[in-house]
Amino acid sequence: MPDSVINLYSDTQTRPDEAMRQAMASAEVGDEQRGLDPTVITLCEEVAELLGKEAAVFLPSGSMCNQIAVRLHIRPLGDEMYLHRLAHPITAEAGGAAAISGAMVMPLEGEGGKFTGDALRAHMRDPADRHEPRSRLVMIEQTTNLGGGRVWPLAQIEEVLEVAKEFGLRTHLDGARLLNASVASGVSAAAYAAGFETAWIDFSKGLGAPIGACLAGSHELIEEAWRYKQMLGGSMRQAGFVAAAARYGLQHNVERLADDHANAKFLAEGLAEINGVEIDPSTVETNIVIFDVADATDLHDKLKAAGVETSLLEGRVRMVTHLDVDRADIETALAEVQTALS
Ligand SMILES: *Cc1c(COP(=O)(O)O)cnc(C)c1O
Repeated sequence: MPDSVINLYSDTQTRPDEAMRQAMASAEVGDEQRGLDPTVITLCEEVAELLGKEAAVFLPSGSMCNQIAVRLHIRPLGDEMYLHRLAHPITAEAGGAAAISGAMVMPLEGEGGKFTGDALRAHMRDPADRHEPRSRLVMIEQTTNLGGGRVWPLAQIEEVLEVAKEFGLRTHLDGARLLNASVASGVSAAAYAAGFETAWIDFSKGLGAPIGACLAGSHELIEEAWRYKQMLGGSMRQAGFVAAAARYGLQHNVERLADDHANAKFLAEGLAEINGVEIDPSTVETNIVIFDVADATDLHDKLKAAGVETSLLEGRVRMVTHLDVDRADIETALAEVQTALS
């Protein structure tokens, strides 16, 4: 067993550092579900402002943000939602869109976890017909996760939103890594979120906090979201302790996402030079690196034995950079890939 692990499994693997723990320990707290936790209230105001929305609600996870948003937009009467085949609600939320909201799910295809306005248009059920589901909701992931950390260009988002408007669809932005997109492109989070009725960011990914996400939207939608938060058991008590970590992450760990992106680029360029690895480094835009090898499971297991954690998806290897890995760790990981494949 190696004595230290380089954890490239996900950017969810960060542990709060000393300064974040201090911020947590000294947080002012209250009863969150009665609207009496001052740190949670401040965090929600900050996120609403960041995303250019009227209001926000603090939730235990990004998955709950997606599930509540789907429930807000979908009526369990045969409404259909459109999202990429690899999107989180399809691959990693235990089928909640069907179980909780009764959604018909139409997976869309497209490069890097993105799709075009035309791909969406091709699935619109227009004119409405009582035999068919009702076209109701479109959602995108910014950045795409299983799509490889890709950034949707603003113009492509606007194209999708244009179609949504034409057909009267509700709109939702899964912004688990929205701030990665913003740091990589220079486009503000509010500009990305502008055309969407609901949008959220995660604190337990690149921002380095242990728990939590905030869903933002109009006063009316967020008030309604509170009902589902209560229903799903997402209302909390002295949640200010974790909201303080989230606030700390927003204050200190956003600009440094550029370091994660540079490390991912360096990793991709190094991998491209290793015999047996297939990757196009120009597709690595943020902190996620996905590549092909002849036997992904074998490489994953060998790296694990050497102290490098990675994840496997659809026969490919994924490595994610974050706060707790530095350039030297990436160099070590590259050397271990070289060894494992030779
Ligand atoms: C991680 C992730 C989620 C879920 O967030 P959790 O906080 O882990 O529940 C949703 N969507 C995307 C794109 C993600 O990467």
